[in-house]
Amino acid sequence: MARRSRAFKACARCRAINDRKANTCWSCGYNVFTSRWDGLIIIISEESLLKDIVGVSRPGYYAIKVL
Ligand SMILES: [Zn+2]
Repeated sequence: MARRSRAFKACARCRAINDRKANTCWSCGYNVFTSRWDGLIIIISEESLLKDIVGVSRPGYYAIKVL
């Protein structure tokens, strides 16, 4: 998990996991990221109940916690 944390960064606003080289978040377009995040949630469908729990609007990878 520590290795993955370095390879990817999480959006500071929506917690979406972005490639380390990304300039803007693929999910919300924000441009502030953190490399310190923990846990991973994968939202697969638009209808996923997890979306409400995690508080996101689009399927994808999200950090559970941004430090
Ligand atoms: Zn975002």
